[in-house]
Amino acid sequence: MNRDSLYIGGRWVSSTSGHTMAVENPATEEIIAHVPAGTGEDVHRAVSAARAAFDGWARTPMAERGALLGKLHEALSARAADIAKTVGLELGTPLKVAKNVQAGLPLAVLRGYADLAADPVPEESIGHSLIVHEPVGVVGAITPWNYPLHQVVAKVAAALAAGCTVVLKPSELTPLVAYLLFDAADEAGLPDGVLNLVTGTGTEVGAAIAGHPDVDMVSFTGSTATGRAVSHAAADRIARVALELGGKSANIILSDADLTKAVKVGVGNAFLNSGQTCTAWTRMLVHRDLYDSAVELAAATAQGYRTGDPFDEGTRLGPLVSAGQRDRVRGFIERAGARMVAGAADVPDKGYFVAGTVFADVDPASELAQEEVFGPVLAIMAFDDDEDAVRIANNSRYGLAGGVWGEPERALAVARRLRTGAVDLNGAAFNPVAPFGGYKQSGVGRELGSYGLAEFQQTKAIQR
Ligand code: NDP
Repeated sequence: MNRDSLYIGGRWVSSTSGHTMAVENPATEEIIAHVPAGTGEDVHRAVSAARAAFDGWARTPMAERGALLGKLHEALSARAADIAKTVGLELGTPLKVAKNVQAGLPLAVLRGYADLAADPVPEESIGHSLIVHEPVGVVGAITPWNYPLHQVVAKVAAALAAGCTVVLKPSELTPLVAYLLFDAADEAGLPDGVLNLVTGTGTEVGAAIAGHPDVDMVSFTGSTATGRAVSHAAADRIARVALELGGKSANIILSDADLTKAVKVGVGNAFLNSGQTCTAWTRMLVHRDLYDSAVELAAATAQGYRTGDPFDEGTRLGPLVSAGQRDRVRGFIERAGARMVAGAADVPDKGYFVAGTVFADVDPASELAQEEVFGPVLAIMAFDDDEDAVRIANNSRYGLAGGVWGEPERALAVARRLRTGAVDLNGAAFNPVAPFGGYKQSGVGRELGSYGLAEFQQTKAIQR
């Protein structure tokens, strides 16, 4: 694997910096690889390659692009075990989740886009106008570390299906799994320049992509603060921006809910990937009649989550991605000012572990209830009736996801009132082809499925 190179114009090439960045295993604190520290000059080379490839790729019939995405899916599927292992090493996701989610989800998303493109929707007419959907152009994709392949594929597969060309900058903390995608792209025979990789820091490479005059659209996933900076950089040239940002999602347990299931699934959702999940249900809102039982059950469930080696079958919580992230999460725990009912348990000395932590009686206005912690930390609050539940849930500057448990029609009525991009009723499964994105400060735009494809298209009306 070429971890010492960037991928630009269909070739593995050196960075102009000549420097590298270390990649650490957060479970062992060992350096496991080095990747190039890319530069603004590298970004410029990659954007030029993507621009040169754009006309040809945009004119390639969508069904042909779909066939190539099918080949990419085949080549990436052959690397599924490697994907799970790599994410286990660079992020610390426990192996089972690494296989099912970190490898399984992007493969499902890629397959979905190959199928969508292979069978394009016929063009529509409105009166005497033909409505044509065309690719936006050169896309800069900037992705974080928590689902390091899924977040890349959600952008890259949709953009390529739409006919855009792409320059990708993965997170400096988890750049290794992206190399597996680029190996697969090389093998699948994507045309030169259609997909380019520049590894490096956000402040150097990310900022260069966001501010590059020839990047037509920036698709970003990460923190709200960085999303704001990316938006500002793109605004100067009126470039399109898609933002998938943070969340502080509420899991509402109504008075007629199946309490045991709602709490167990709720804790599992909040702790998935050590809580480093933008859609995590980090606030559990429980009807007052069920509250004490819910707190007891949540505490017992959290105590059953074993921290440790991600490659050990019994591990439910791996480390956080970095020392900085662990310290940040510890800070939230120390400042919580609520009743801790689970947490502070022993964790391995080496590695950036935090024990599964549950706080009860959390003030809905407190930092813990308002800020994205991005660690295995659950905040439980009581509500009086459905109206009160909706009010507390919507009292957030975020609006990404949520859950509601109770009699289906009543739960649906509550779900309709939540100001969030997604709601799961009674534990319904994630749908990888349904639109995904946020209200309020959780983002702009939608990813996945046909809505995700449309993000990367322009719309033209031709009168005839
Ligand atoms: P960032 O938002 O800073 O990182 C996301 C991506 O943006 C990375 O590729 C990063 O590069 C890049 N980036 C950083 N600065 C810039 C910039 N000025 N211009 C362009 N790109 C840039 O998240 P952090 O890693 O700092 O995480 C901090 C917090 O953000 C977390 O604790 C969590 O609360 C939240 N977060 C939320 C995510 C979500 O999915 N909702 C995902 C990740 C974080 P690099 O990392 O390589 O420097």
